This record gives sequence, C-alpha cells and structure tokens, in this order.
Amino acid sequence: MAARRFVLQRRSGHRPEVDFKADLNEQQHAAVTCGDGPKLIIAGAGTGKTRTLTYRVGWLLSQGVAAENILLVTFTNKAAREMVERVRTLTRVDNARLWGGTFHSVGARFLRRHGSALGYTESFSILDASDQRDLLRLCVTDVGVNVTGRRFPTPKVLGSLISLHTNTRVALEDLVVERYPQFVDWEEAILAIAQRYVTRKREANAMDYDDLLTLWLKLLQDDGELRARYGQRLRHILVDEYQDTNIVQGEIVEALAEGNGGNLMAVGDDCQSIYAFRGAHYDNILRFPERNPGTEIFKLEVNYRSTPEILALTNASIACNADQYQKELSAERDTGMLPALIPCNYPDQEAGFVVERILQLRDEGTPLREIAILYRAHSHRLTVETSLLRADIPYEVRGGLRFFEQAHVKDVTAHLRVVLNPRDEVAFRRALLLQQGIGNVTANRLWESLVAATEPEQFLQALETTDLAEKLPSRARAGWQSFVATARSVVECLNAPEAAVQSVMEGGYEALARVQFTNFESRLEDLEQLAIFAAQYDTLAAFLEELVLLGEMYGQDVKAGGGEEDERPVVLSTVHQSKGLEWDAVFFVHLVEGALPSQRALAERGGEEEERRIFYVGTTRARNELYLSYPIVRPGSGMAGALLQQPSRFLQEIPTRLMEPWEIFDAPTSQERSPASRQRPQAGAGAGASAGDDWDPNVDPVWDDDSYFD
Ligand code: ATP
Ligand code: MG
Repeated sequence: MAARRFVLQRRSGHRPEVDFKADLNEQQHAAVTCGDGPKLIIAGAGTGKTRTLTYRVGWLLSQGVAAENILLVTFTNKAAREMVERVRTLTRVDNARLWGGTFHSVGARFLRRHGSALGYTESFSILDASDQRDLLRLCVTDVGVNVTGRRFPTPKVLGSLISLHTNTRVALEDLVVERYPQFVDWEEAILAIAQRYVTRKREANAMDYDDLLTLWLKLLQDDGELRARYGQRLRHILVDEYQDTNIVQGEIVEALAEGNGGNLMAVGDDCQSIYAFRGAHYDNILRFPERNPGTEIFKLEVNYRSTPEILALTNASIACNADQYQKELSAERDTGMLPALIPCNYPDQEAGFVVERILQLRDEGTPLREIAILYRAHSHRLTVETSLLRADIPYEVRGGLRFFEQAHVKDVTAHLRVVLNPRDEVAFRRALLLQQGIGNVTANRLWESLVAATEPEQFLQALETTDLAEKLPSRARAGWQSFVATARSVVECLNAPEAAVQSVMEGGYEALARVQFTNFESRLEDLEQLAIFAAQYDTLAAFLEELVLLGEMYGQDVKAGGGEEDERPVVLSTVHQSKGLEWDAVFFVHLVEGALPSQRALAERGGEEEERRIFYVGTTRARNELYLSYPIVRPGSGMAGALLQQPSRFLQEIPTRLMEPWEIFDAPTSQERSPASRQRPQAGAGAGASAGDDWDPNVDPVWDDDSYFD
C-alpha cells in the first residue's frame, strides 16, 4: 500500500501565516494593519478588541517585527494569560520572547535589570499583601503608637490607604478624611508609619506591588538614556483594558511611548471601567487623544459574543449611565433565548436552581467549563459552592483563596527568601520565630547583631559566626542551629528550587507542621505541590519571583468536587476577575440591593455608575444563556431575624420585555418542608447559607476581595 503523504508546513522564521482578511471584519482589519503612531480602539464588550490586539501582534510579526520588540500588557493576570495564549495559538511564536503579561510582571522584569540604580539588588524581595501587613506591623511598633485604648487602623487598612495614595496620588491626609474619617485623630501617626514603611522596605531590599509600578516609572522618568534605550527596544506597545489603568500605569506607558516615537495602541471600553477603588484613572482613556496628539481612533461596533437578546439587555442597562462614549452595538449572532430573571425565596433555593440548571445544561451538551457563576463579592458564593459540592459538580474558584498566602506556604518560602535576600527582615523573623525557644526578643537581638549581608554565601557566613550562637540563651540554641542548618542547605540549592523546598521540609518544617496544624496532611500535600511547582524553574530566584506574582495576581484556583476525570470544571468568579473572558452560560447570582450595588459604593461619588458597570461586565460575559437570580429572604443568624431583600436596582430598571421571569417551585418531597423551615434554611444547609450571606455592610466587599489581582 502506498504510504500516506504528510506534509509538515514550514514556517518561515516565526512569521505566522494568518488570513487576516478572512478572520476579521473591516473595522478590525483596519486597526490590525494600521501604520505607526498612537492609536485608540474604543469599543463595547465582545466586539473583538482583544482579538484585534492579538491579530495586531500577528500582523507585526508577519511584517518582520521581532517578538522581543513588542510589549503586550493588560490589567489582570487571567486576562494576560488568556491574551498571551491567544497570541501563541495564532502565531505559534515563542511567548518567552514577547514582553507580555501584566503591568506588575513586566515591571518586576524591568526592575530586576535596572533596580540597582535605585539601590536595590537584583534579588530584591517582592512583598505580597500579607508580607506588607507584617512589615506595617513592625512600622507601627517603630513609630511607637500605643494601639490599645482607641481604635487604630489595622495593617490591612493602613496597606489599602498607602496603596490608594500611591495609585491615585491623593494625599494620605485627604484619603483618611474621605475613606476612614473615624481615624482622623490618628493622622499624624499614619503619616509617620507610611514614611517608616518606605524606609523599612528599602532596608529590607524589598518592593511591594505598587513599587513595581512606581519605581519602574521613576527609573524611566529619571533616566533619559534608559528611556530612549527601551523606546528603541519596545518598538510597539499594545495595552488591553486601558480603561482600568491608573495614573502610574498611564505614565509608564506614555514614557515608554515617548522613546519609541509614540507607537502605542491602547484598547478599552470606558463602560467596563470597574477598578476605581484601586485608583483606575478614567482620564487615561477619555483623554488619550489629547495626551497623544495625532491619535487615530478606531471603533468596533459589531458584537460577536452574545445573542441579540443578551445584547439588548446589556445595552439597555448601560444606557442608564450618562457618562460614556456613545457607541452603537449591533449583534452578529443568531437569535437565542431571553435572559432569565429568577426570583428565589432564599439563598438555598437560588443555589438549588443553579445546580439543577447546570446539570440540565450538561445533559443538553454544554460542557461544564463553558458555564460560569459570577458574583459581586466572594462572600456571595458560599451557598452555591456548598450546593455544588453536595451535587458532586466539579468547580473552580477563581482567585478565591490565595494559595501562596497560606501560613504553611509562607513559612517555607520565608526560609528561601531570606537566603536569597538576606536583608528581608520579615522573612528572617518569620522563619526564625518558628523555632522553639526563639521569641520576638531573641529574634530582634539576632537581627541586630547579624553582620549585614547581601549575598547568600555572605549571609551564611554571618549566621555561622560563633559568638552569635554564644550570645543566645541556652533554650534558643537548638532552634538557632536548626535555622542555620536549613539556611546552609538552601544556599546549596540556589539552582535547584525543588530541592530547596524539600530541604526546608526536611530541616524540621515537616515535623513542626505535624504538631502545629490539625489538618497537617492537606498542608503537607500543598507543600509537595509547591515543590513540584518549583521544579519548573531553574533558579530559586526565578521560582520565588513567579510565586509571589502569581500569589497576588490571581491567587490559586481552588478546585473541588468529583465528576468525570479530566472534566474541566464550572468556573466561580467575582465579576472583577471575569474581565475579558466569556462563557456559553452565565449565572449571575445574589443580585440584591446592598450586594450589587454594594452599600459602600453607593455612598461614594460615581458609585452607582461604577456598580452598574460591574453589572455590565458580568452580563456581557455570556454568549448564549444568561440567568439573573436573587434571593428574596436573607436568613437570620444568631439573634438577628430573617430580612426581606430588594432585587438589585439594575434588574428593576431593565424593561421587563427584555427578560423572561422564571418561577421556581420546590418539588414536593415525601417529607414536605414545614412553613417554618422555608423561612430558614435547613440544618446542614444553614451553615453554608448564612455564611454565604454574612457580609458586613460597612465593609466594601471589594476590599476583601482579591479580584484586582485576579
Ligand atoms: P471584552 O470587552 O469583553 O474584553 P472584546 O471586545 O475584547 O471583549 P473579544 O474577546 O476579542 O472581545 O471577542 C469576543 C468574541 O467574539 C470572541 O469569542 C472572539 O473570538 C469573537 N470575535 C471577535 N471578532 C470576530 C470576528 N471578526 N469573527 C468571528 N469571531 C469574532
Ligand atoms: Mg477583551
């Protein structure tokens, strides 16, 4: 039999073979193939903005531009991963060569190379939110505030204040008045702590997330030669989700573009700007043409994502916002079902509905991975999550729990961090305090008498100085020796991160975890996973950097539930983390007043419009089916009785003809529920239900939500 011929397509260099005309509409094609200079693509959800950027990269490569001359950034990690993946599928270019990712990851890359100009070593630590809190706690002590008696802001509040100050450049004093008037009396102490925090970070050779942006910008602004060099290098700058960039990010982009002749393409949708609480600066997009003279504007007006029915609803909703670029959006898709409006009696019933409908959808052929459950704040998901677990439906929570911020993971990585960056006091203390017989006083004394070191070997030498050990009280000696021994083994593993993790475990952490944690098995499993994860990296430095950025930027997806092997799960996500993504069916749950819009947002200027944009982002994720649900009763807990809730105003303002109401009945069971048990969830379900609803109206759910970091 003649052999079948199989021809391997030769790829010339990495010039992709893409049929740009066939894959894009006319408006998109014009943007993809345009010439140099500042460009702004402003368009509604689902019109192919990200697709246009992706193809633009493809186009540039096909024109002979090298991948390393392209910078492709976006706002959240999920979106960045999705976008870079789309580029890879389209062009098959090696992603490592492209400067792609989030602002923070590109900033870290830049600062590793050039941070020495600001006095940092190449192995500076990156502080995540919990490190930041630890360091702030030290600063509070330094400044000598007596925090007993009157209420003093927690390190978390201090961290948010400082971060908002950095990202908006609003004076700290004003922010305190605006956001936390209850702390006005502490203003002086807060300012002193903020200053101390800056010094402490420097001393520790550490940067927090905001520093990754501000110091990057500082270097670009201070050093014209560097700016020019990067301008030469990053010939094409492409930014997605521009509506959510803050002042600092906007200036970074413009500083880079200044060096490359203004070759900047920004893409965004003002109606999807939902990060004001993190300092998103609307003006970046609204005044882009003014700030970048000669800007060519492209509009994309065909929605490819959603059915006309879903589009009609989302258009009607966003039309209630006065302040926006006017856009006409037309549907390209065939007609489908009307979005469903589902009033439920109580959260349990809402969860029951979601679960049953998901099972039906699966039977009808929609894979679970094409289904998402969206909510405004993490606390809204718990009832649904419990029901999914009971029904054995696999699901994945986007960024719900920060894997890398769990105590055991941080304990282990603290050992690695301090070796790599011996000036990292937070890591030093964390690792040391784990040892028996060593408390704060001894740790302080050790830190103070330790010879300053910047390199791992030098650090080890300092640790091994005998008189240091001799100064210790006898009860602390064994612990100290164990710490030094672990440090020694980590120093030997600088190029073997997996072995480094294992050496910390074997150096005593595993034994400690067994006595310290009741659920130590699952924690040890986590640490095993951590070692496996570490094995992907060549150096400890690379591993730690990735880890800290991952930790904050998108948390760890929590997977649970049974189901078929390899079945990709249903996604549970806050709206903030769902940006740029799409699913066949979307369940938007807990749409009640006080939750969406959130109570706190309403008290702020522009709050209602921002919340409406959140509603818009959530609903525009759906391709075919959209389910909007809310529980009428909020079950009571403890002394508090059940409360009646109002459906979200964003549901009430939509013309009723655009939705189909669904009425939910509980099928009668052999033991028909008593009227009383209808008011309150049954035992067992109760824990999930009341916890799910248990949010403090005084706390903006978003502040407790890691969605910004995806
Ligand atoms: P968002 O505002 O939510 O970020 P977007 O404007 O970035 O949306 P994309 O995610 O790029 O939109 O595109 C939405 C969907 O429409 C994707 O599935 C995309 O592949 C599809 N799409 C976009 N343009 C076209 C086109 N010309 N032909 C076919 N499908 C398209
Ligand atoms: Mg997009």
